[in-house]
Amino acid sequence: MAVLHPGPSPQGRGRHGRNRLPPRKRPRLVTIITDHLARLVPASRGQGRLVAGSTATGAEISIPYIAARGAADGPTLWVTATVHGDEVNGTLAALDFVRHLDLAAMRGACVVIPAANPLAFDARAKTAPQDGLDIDQQFPGAAGGLTTQRVADRLWREIERAGDCLVSLHTLTAHFEAKPYGVYKLHPDGPVAEDVLLRHLSFYDPSVACLMPTVKAAGELPGNISGAIDYQFQALGKTAFMVELGAGSRIEWPYVEQGSAGLRRTAAEIGMFEDRPAPGGTLRKVLKRRHVTADTGGLFRAACTPGDILQPGSPLGVITDIFGDIVDTVTFAEPVLVIAARRDPVVATGDRIGFVATAWESRTLQSV
Ligand SMILES: [Zn+2]
Repeated sequence: MAVLHPGPSPQGRGRHGRNRLPPRKRPRLVTIITDHLARLVPASRGQGRLVAGSTATGAEISIPYIAARGAADGPTLWVTATVHGDEVNGTLAALDFVRHLDLAAMRGACVVIPAANPLAFDARAKTAPQDGLDIDQQFPGAAGGLTTQRVADRLWREIERAGDCLVSLHTLTAHFEAKPYGVYKLHPDGPVAEDVLLRHLSFYDPSVACLMPTVKAAGELPGNISGAIDYQFQALGKTAFMVELGAGSRIEWPYVEQGSAGLRRTAAEIGMFEDRPAPGGTLRKVLKRRHVTADTGGLFRAACTPGDILQPGSPLGVITDIFGDIVDTVTFAEPVLVIAARRDPVVATGDRIGFVATAWESRTLQSV
């Protein structure tokens, strides 16, 4: 009896398209950025795009990059901004940093991804409208996955092959007021010492440096921490951390400058420049932190500023009802350190109104 074989379907067509091809026949993705860096004349800069697909109208879904090559060989620093698409201070800080580098004095290379989540960035939103996935919970991504997972995969293929240090720039949301602060994780298999991460974070003059638990912790937003780009980079045994540069959806120039100045010090710290920076003295290291949510809807009026330490009974703020009568005064039984306070007054029950540290310690960083 004859057995009918349908024969191979053209690549990218057929019922399951490329996903049905055996791995060896998959198109081999070149590392575009590494190749681009190798082609650059020493002490020069280039730019390009990583294509991750297309939209319904045929527009490319592409991740823009800037690649800068120093005058001599050395380490490679990656800076990713706006993995959350509306956290624009990071984009501006990264651009200001890379465009003002003295390449003639630089060793190694710097790669800046100014809009790491392009669909979300264009949509002026944290996540891409196509699937609503938080891309910073999707790394290393999935080549045959949902749109956001494919974007993560495309970016990750480049990063994992060439990079010694990664800085992931974020902000809080536009609802909040916050001074810049650092966030870091400690990968259980990662050899990078905590002191190395704290030293880097001190370069950004942060209000606090938060050790983010990598197992599920009360008070953190729900989500998959291990899918964060900095955590995945740490899993490769390399230095990675996050810097939160204020609020989202608007420019805050002092924080943009704080971010670009910090990046320059990080570059020097890993050996790209001669002037190894001094760490920023004493750092407040946060051991526990939590979001504070409204118990009742109404209008929240903050009574504190980020960086304040609130003693028991001292209010984070009050909530009035829509007629203006105070219906709740938000206080704490223990001292808290305010990381961020809400500035958008309109709240429903469960909305975030503050972000506070409940346990912290001072760490004095030694000059090396
Ligand atoms: Zn973010």
